[in-house]
Amino acid sequence: MEMLITGGAGFIGSNFVRYWAARRPEDRLVVLDALTYAGDRRSIAELEREGRVVFVHGDICDQPLVESTLDRFGIETIVHFAAESHNSLAILDPARFFRTNVLGTQALCEAARRGGVARFHHISTCEVYGDLALDSDESFSEESPYRPRTPYNASKAGADHVVRSYIETFGLRATITNCCNNYGPYQFPEKVIALFSTRALEGQTLPLYASTKNRREWLHVEDHCRAIELVLSDGVVGETYNVGSGQEASIDQIADGILEAAGRPESLKTIVPDRPGHDRRYLLDSTKIRTELGWEPVVDFESGLKATVKWYRDNRSWWEPLIGRSPVVESSWASGPPPAQQS
Ligand code: NAD
Repeated sequence: MEMLITGGAGFIGSNFVRYWAARRPEDRLVVLDALTYAGDRRSIAELEREGRVVFVHGDICDQPLVESTLDRFGIETIVHFAAESHNSLAILDPARFFRTNVLGTQALCEAARRGGVARFHHISTCEVYGDLALDSDESFSEESPYRPRTPYNASKAGADHVVRSYIETFGLRATITNCCNNYGPYQFPEKVIALFSTRALEGQTLPLYASTKNRREWLHVEDHCRAIELVLSDGVVGETYNVGSGQEASIDQIADGILEAAGRPESLKTIVPDRPGHDRRYLLDSTKIRTELGWEPVVDFESGLKATVKWYRDNRSWWEPLIGRSPVVESSWASGPPPAQQS
């Protein structure tokens, strides 16, 4: 099979490329990635050197480039990870999120339709459903209404609607997964687990948002890759599947776990103001993928978190050059609305 993976130089995309290459050596993998600050070709460099992956440097919004790439490699399947993915950056520069996540997804769907691509899979997030009260006993199913609250999750909701419109109107053979928060190796050190791990290893303070009881549902990235593989092989075209672990942890618990794994004192925890629109909690009901496709996560959060801190300890040469490349400083939400930025 010839597969195009957009955003394959990012966190989940590069893990998926490694996962797929290890299991399906006969498939040709083509990565299309714009290499924004969050993308790093080193994450898939070994596979490129071995000739297992072909890299195309480009923007998903560039429809002629996408069309020629589909044609050049005879692409049959697209797995679409490329996105602007950091909620904090979306507050500083919302326009780039709507451009890449909504218009880029539309350009990709259009190119896939014109190119007669046999299968399209869109990677989305739990955040499209909005947030839950901390004491709520609800969880979001595939039928829950979309109630995004931030520019990032609104742009992902828009992308989901684009994909659905291409399924319904043009018969694009697509599926969607809405996944909870991921963690694991090769995550850019701006997202909380990677940020706290790298800072703890450096003996630096961990910036905890003031709402330290806010929590997320955490899934190891390899469990996410397994879910995508199952949806590609056994999922029903036109369907959406929620992918959640059921394992929740507050920001406070994450900081404690990382400090313990890194052998650093609790005194490194520092409270910073919440970013605007900080969602309190997300929790998915993932009964559908579990019962219909037989998926279940295999990595428990406690051991996955320890293994992740160890990975950052053992792979300093990967993340050290990335420090300072993030456009956002998490301690900077102190007073008033942030300054506008140009896209
Ligand atoms: P990431 O920011 O680590 O990687 C995104 C990749 O997309 C980068 O390599 C970047 O260079 C590339 N990219 C950005 N704009 C592009 C463009 N215009 N054209 C081509 N490439 C472009 O993100 P991630 O955490 O790996 O997330 C991947 C996908 O999974 C995203 O769609 C995200 O919304 C979704 N998701 C992420 C999580 C999570 O916890 N990280 C959870 C659920 C869903």
